[in-house]
Formats: sequence, structure tokens, C-alpha cells
Amino acid sequence: MVEVKVLEDRGNSVTLQLEDIDRSYANAVRRFCIAEVPSMAIDDVVILENSSVLYDEILAHRLGMVPIKTDLEKYNLPEECDCGNPLGCHKCRVLFVLDAKGKEKISTVMSGDLVSEDREVRPVSETIPLVKLAPGQSVKLEAYARLGRGKEHAKWQPATVAVLTDGKKEGVFNLMVESAGGLPAKQIVLKAIELLEKKLKEIQVAVGGAQ
Ligand SMILES: [Zn+2]
Repeated sequence: MVEVKVLEDRGNSVTLQLEDIDRSYANAVRRFCIAEVPSMAIDDVVILENSSVLYDEILAHRLGMVPIKTDLEKYNLPEECDCGNPLGCHKCRVLFVLDAKGKEKISTVMSGDLVSEDREVRPVSETIPLVKLAPGQSVKLEAYARLGRGKEHAKWQPATVAVLTDGKKEGVFNLMVESAGGLPAKQIVLKAIELLEKKLKEIQVAVGGAQ
């Protein structure tokens, strides 16, 4: 029986002590925290107007890197959504609108200027600079966020840090996970365990061992 002790839980980061567990299993949980647990990120951007100094592609890339608050209960991964629509639906994508105009002096458009159709799904921080606008310049765009996985692109990694270190004695490991802000760190670990279990079950079925 694996013994788990929460050494520290600060919401955005969590440290667990795992006892009576094989290192490879503990490491699999760590890897799932980074690569398998889904999180929300902007993936598709329709630029309607852009007279800023940034190319459309760079602006779209910057939007993709903005950490977004994630709700894993409300939204589906597009490939698992029952809509089957390549453009997505209200259960597998969230629309953000940005409509910014240059002011009298040079101004900075921030992540907080993105208007989301779902108030719960919004940038983790409102003060991430996106682009600077000189007087007369403007940016108008629609951006679609969706769930994705870190193994697909780093922008979907829910955890910025996930490290496994040796504990005080043999067979004891400490797992420290720090969230990018989209999900509470503890939820990332719990989801990682759930997904690992699911994957093992699939292997069991494939081998023909399941009841
Ligand atoms: Zn859908």
C-alpha cells in the first residue's frame, strides 16, 4: 500500500511524500503531470486587423503562451468531444476577442485586455504584455482556446516544474509540482494519477487480461 503524505500545499505548488512505491511508478506520475494532464491554451487566432510592429505569427505565438484558467469538468479535449466539428463547439473551445487601439502615447496591450466568452476561462494573469501600440496603430482579433496536452506543445503543459527527489530513506520519494496557474497543483497530480490508471487499464484490456 502506497503511503502519501502532503508535505506542503500552497495551491500553486504541492509537495508530496510517497512511500512504498517504485521509483519508475512515481516517475510516471511526474511525467504525466507534464505531458498528459490537459490544460487550456489559445491555439487558433483570426487576425482581423494588425497595424502593430509585430507580425501576425508572432502575435499569435505570444497569445498561445498566455496561461489560461482551466476547467477540466466543463470542457472536453477536441478529439474526445462529441460535436465532431473541426471548428469545435461550446464544450471544446472558448472564444477570446481583442480589440485594442493605440492611444495618444505608446501603450501596451495586456493579457487582461482579452475578453473571454466564459468568465471562468481567462488569463491567469492580467498583466502579461502582448504588444505595444503607437498612436494610430490597432489590433483586432479573435482567438480560440482549447484543451491540449504538453506532449503536443509546451504551451499546454499544466505544470512548469515537476521534480522527483529521494526522500529520507529508501523507497521514499518527494514529488514537487508547480502549476503554470491554470489548475491547482494538487489537481494536476490527481488528474495525472487518474490518467495513468486509465492508460494501464487500456494496456490490460489490449493484452486480454480485463474482466
Ligand atoms: Zn466540441
